[in-house]
Amino acid sequence: RAKADGRGTYRFFETGMDARAQARRLLEMDLRAALQRDEFEAYYQPIRDVASGHVVAFEALLRWNHPQRGLIAPINFIPLAEETGLIVQLGEFVLRTACTDAATWPADIDVAVNLSPVQFRSPNLIASVTAALAASGLEAHRLELEITESVLLQNSEATLTTLHELRGMGVRISLDDFGTGYSSLSYLRSFPFDKIKIDRSFVSELATREDSMAIIRAVTGLGRSLGIVTTAEGVENDAQLELLRREGCTQAQGYLFSKPRPASDVALMLERPRLRASA
Ligand code: C2E
Ligand code: MG
Ligand code: MG
Ligand code: MG
Repeated sequence: RAKADGRGTYRFFETGMDARAQARRLLEMDLRAALQRDEFEAYYQPIRDVASGHVVAFEALLRWNHPQRGLIAPINFIPLAEETGLIVQLGEFVLRTACTDAATWPADIDVAVNLSPVQFRSPNLIASVTAALAASGLEAHRLELEITESVLLQNSEATLTTLHELRGMGVRISLDDFGTGYSSLSYLRSFPFDKIKIDRSFVSELATREDSMAIIRAVTGLGRSLGIVTTAEGVENDAQLELLRREGCTQAQGYLFSKPRPASDVALMLERPRLRASA
């Protein structure tokens, strides 16, 4: 395989590159090939309105159907895709796919797409969002882009310009994994986010830790005061859902309703209140 890449030939094995670096190199080649071979797939996880129980959106979550290794979760390839810049192409794939799929869903169901900080800083971002919407015919207001606090850490002037540009197109912006980064409150003042996604770590400890409960209460209260939708991530049981309902959290997402599943299962997930299947 080292030879196939045409650059280093066998020198790559001779320079004493350690096993980890070698594995990384192989994974990188594998990633490039996988893009060509169409091995990536968008899975979808429903997001429900807590008060009505209705599905209001699906979050697109990337999966790699590896011919030998089977289904690979994003944690195992997104970091390297970010380091190598391949995330830009991968991200464009997810955007295109998610918009195309969502255009076939009922008009009141939205789609959420995760943006990597690397993708966010890429000069192609606005053009690729525009292209994905145009090609699919999806109305811009049905697309939510999820960014994490790490996007806001750097280059705030350029970041805000991009966020306002996206907003100007009618796209909605969510702050993902809220509570896990830094100075979250100042971010809420720097840009008018449409949605805050409360990180799973707070939800999983809801029943056992009073401080988690207090944080959820504070964030949902903040959302209410600022007119920002709050979504709890990682809801796994009825007790958590009940506490979230009591605190007035707007939306919930988690294994309680469904794990992420292939696009072909979206109709099923819309039909049934709960689906805990194995996928
Ligand atoms: P995220 O955006 O915070 O997505 C939520 C993650 O929590 C997903 O993991 C989802 O499967 C998982 N999850 C949902 N409900 C539950 C639950 O009840 N219990 C537990 N234990 N987990 C739950 P997944 O699909 O492995 O994705 C992990 C992360 O990878 C995502 O976190 C996101 O940061 C990133 N990611 C996924 N797809 C993409 C993508 O297309 N582009 C980019 N840039 N990042 C992506
Ligand atoms: Mg997300
Ligand atoms: Mg999240
Ligand atoms: Mg998370």
